[in-house]
Amino acid sequence: MNILVINCGSSSLKFQLIDAQTEEVIAKGLCERIGIEGSRLVYTPLGGSAQGHAVQGQKQETVTPMKNHTDAIRLVLAALTDEETGVVGDLGEIGAVGHRVVHGGEKFASSTVITDEVIRAIEACNDLAPLHNPANLIGIDACRELMPETPMVAVFDTAFHQTMPDKAYMYGLPYEYYEKYKIRRYGFHGTSHSYVSKKAAEVLGRKYEDLKIIVCHLGNGASVSAVQNGRCVDTSMGLTPLEGLIMGTRSGDIDPAIIEFIAHKEGKNIDEIMQILNKKSGVLGLSENLSSDFRDLEAGYKEGNPRAKNAMETFAYRVAKYIGAYAAAMNGVDVICFTAGVGENSDFVRKMICQEYLGYLGIALDEAANQKRGEDIAISTPDSKVTVMVIPTNEELAIARETCRLTAER
Ligand code: ADP
Repeated sequence: MNILVINCGSSSLKFQLIDAQTEEVIAKGLCERIGIEGSRLVYTPLGGSAQGHAVQGQKQETVTPMKNHTDAIRLVLAALTDEETGVVGDLGEIGAVGHRVVHGGEKFASSTVITDEVIRAIEACNDLAPLHNPANLIGIDACRELMPETPMVAVFDTAFHQTMPDKAYMYGLPYEYYEKYKIRRYGFHGTSHSYVSKKAAEVLGRKYEDLKIIVCHLGNGASVSAVQNGRCVDTSMGLTPLEGLIMGTRSGDIDPAIIEFIAHKEGKNIDEIMQILNKKSGVLGLSENLSSDFRDLEAGYKEGNPRAKNAMETFAYRVAKYIGAYAAAMNGVDVICFTAGVGENSDFVRKMICQEYLGYLGIALDEAANQKRGEDIAISTPDSKVTVMVIPTNEELAIARETCRLTAER
């Protein structure tokens, strides 16, 4: 069965068509600037009926108006079934659609087949993720309109973290805010934390349920999670993805009183300050707008730029502090995994974190292994007390697996 995986943002839509049996990506791409002038579709056929064709592996870009997400999905479906460049004969060859949904609140502790009732429950979580959930729902609606007979599944970023105990998810706030508004830690990147922690156990040939694993998902957005005996017990993002690590442009943890302080000093309102904390902070802000991209920061660091150096050191220090906190939360740690754009690619950042701070855990880094890319590997030495690994994440594959599992049961 082929599964279409959709990750819908407010003006963009990423997709992959995955053969659930072979787990091969048959086609992938994205629509950008939906509803804005200059919208375009980027599409790459990789397998399926494009196999053997000259088009296979060739990225195509089409600039064409898309006034909304329905237009965008219509174009994606047309590209997938196109006589020349398509990868399937007709839409009947797409067995199910898996949608990434950011916030499932307390309602969704696992993925679910989408029904009208599920859509209403996702809508009820819109308050908790006002930038993301409405966009995810628009993608779901558009797909249901164009493929009314095809089963759809929602896979939530928050679901994996629903196993956290209340001591990990409660904030030190008046209890009534939890009761009235469900203000608590939810956590995000759950699909990635789940995929990577399971994969680590598999690669090590160990039972998932026997391990204490810390996953460091370090991308533009970044979070750490503690996975004990196969269940998430804590994670660094909170009610929203703003909490925790210092990220590309997000501040992560700060003293909440800073918000009032900036408001008074700079004459800014709450929306303006939230914009600063989400878009102008993190390593971008720390580096005086040099970059939010760790490739640029690493280059700056090596050239002796003090702001780049400080941004990277502050980032690495915060990651190391969370690792320490989660080793304490689980009373030990067997495996530490690095994943996502920075975690998978930057041996420099991994070394900064492991060598500088994690010696007390008995960790010894294998410098040669740390240089490798794109593999599921251990980067600690065989005698290291904790195994440190690089596990490339694959959220689309995880969504496809969930979608296949739930729709095959029907
Ligand atoms: P997101 O999904 O949150 O947008 P990704 O997981 O794709 O983020 O990570 C993107 C980030 O990964 C980039 O901003 C960049 O900082 C970092 N990155 C990618 N390649 C490298 C590399 N070779 N070295 C260092 N950092 C890298």
